[in-house]
Amino acid sequence: MTGDAHPPAWHFTLPWAELDVFARDPVPPVLRPAADLAARLEDRFRPALLRFARGGEGAYVAVWPPDRPGPPQDVPHPDDLRGVALGQAGTLSCRVCSARVPALYPEAGLPLFGPHLAAHRLIGGCPQCGSGFATSRVQALAVLPPR
Ligand SMILES: [Zn+2]
Repeated sequence: MTGDAHPPAWHFTLPWAELDVFARDPVPPVLRPAADLAARLEDRFRPALLRFARGGEGAYVAVWPPDRPGPPQDVPHPDDLRGVALGQAGTLSCRVCSARVPALYPEAGLPLFGPHLAAHRLIGGCPQCGSGFATSRVQALAVLPPR
């Protein structure tokens, strides 16, 4: 468990890790950037802490597919993770206007979640200057306007 101060909304047990998905604050400090990003997105984007069975943890945003309602409202079942991908909060720089764009990088290297990326469409283009991916090189699971 992550401690009583930060109870997750949904807890999933995987063969190789534990996944805690959070609905809202408070979140563990390591999830702060992920939670700030997810707060500006739809409900299908949720801050999530992945704790590996071999040790270590990773801060992510769990992303439900666009045609799915999001996390379950009751006791989660592993099937609820069908199509769910994980992304990492970060910042992209537009190569046209140099805007620093908050973005959600797709995480492709994990079991279960990596293959699910195929069900997700990457969003391309700079929200500041409108340049497409080809010139801006801005592309991610989600792209937000610069603050
Ligand atoms: Zn731009």
